[in-house]
Amino acid sequence: MARMAYSCACYVLVINKTMIYKTEVITKEVNKDTLLSKYRMPDVVLEACKLCPDYGRVWSCPPGVPDPYEYLAPYSNAVLIGTKVIYENDVRERVKTAEEAQKIRDISYEPVKKQVHACLLEYEKHNPGSISLCAGRCTLCEECTRITGEPCRMPDKMRYSITSFGFDFSRLTEDFFHTPLLWERDGLPEYDIAIWAVFF
Ligand code: SF4
Repeated sequence: MARMAYSCACYVLVINKTMIYKTEVITKEVNKDTLLSKYRMPDVVLEACKLCPDYGRVWSCPPGVPDPYEYLAPYSNAVLIGTKVIYENDVRERVKTAEEAQKIRDISYEPVKKQVHACLLEYEKHNPGSISLCAGRCTLCEECTRITGEPCRMPDKMRYSITSFGFDFSRLTEDFFHTPLLWERDGLPEYDIAIWAVFF
């Protein structure tokens, strides 16, 4: 199997000659048993999930996701993929509210997450026996069928969220990417970071 190696890439989005953001992608290979034994806090993470407005409304997230030990039993290792979306200073200075910040994320962070998800599905196709976990809830459909109690529309493309398996997102970003999570109540932080995992 072709292994993913450490890599770094940079993309930028420019609108009306203004650069909005750039990205950095970092990958780290890690033993699966280490991830499961040292980087899960299932009870704490589940309580945090319950505060999410999408709790119980998306098939990629709790409650009802598979047991991580059983689901990941066929795999030995994983590659973590950290993608940092770094916002330009002049964009951050213009953003003064949470709503404005969301509008910028809608044209930056969210499309980047979709691109990485699509890339990982391609990777899986070329590397049979691998499976990925996604950064955050599934957003493939505008509205998840779980809301109406119907089955997932795209089970072949839907991937469980990395946090749905109880992984402590904050420790993963700090220990593997030396990148603390940032948060701004009424604006944009310097960057947002998302993490995926591919198991093989
Ligand atoms: S693919 Fe669509 S139906 Fe399936 S989990 Fe994602 S949003 Fe929901």
